[in-house]
Amino acid sequence: MEIEDEKLTFYYNGNQDLESFQILQTALDIRGYYLVEFYNEFLIDIYMLLDDPESKHIAIDWDNTISADQDFFKNLIKQFQSAGYKPFVCTLRAPDRENIEEIRSILEKTNIAIYLTDGNPKREYMKELGVNVHLWIDDFYPGVCRETSSLLTRNSIE
Ligand SMILES: [Mg+2]
Repeated sequence: MEIEDEKLTFYYNGNQDLESFQILQTALDIRGYYLVEFYNEFLIDIYMLLDDPESKHIAIDWDNTISADQDFFKNLIKQFQSAGYKPFVCTLRAPDRENIEEIRSILEKTNIAIYLTDGNPKREYMKELGVNVHLWIDDFYPGVCRETSSLLTRNSIE
């Protein structure tokens, strides 16, 4: 019996006219991944949370996000870069050499910044560095912001 290719389910409830979303939608279609716009934590594998529509920064989580399909995300990163976006890796992992080397070795020649927040909520961490994020791509939104954050309500997660 063949093992069925696991299809990931992505969530997005933001403006569908944005170029960033259209890049994502095309990539998901090609890969045959699911896209839902209704919040159901039991169904969703990866969240795409729209934050600052004017920003070009796209934060992509590592564990269970990029690591869930490295080829898909490497390709997506290149497409975002070609369209003028600035994707970067943002992980809750500790900022030690082993973690950085592991991520770098898998992303190979992808020219991308890596932020390791050491367990700190990612949105606050990036804001302190002066980075407003356009889109968060993450399997675990409580790692992005606190439960009371308006980011969640703006993305219809309550
Ligand atoms: Mg994760």
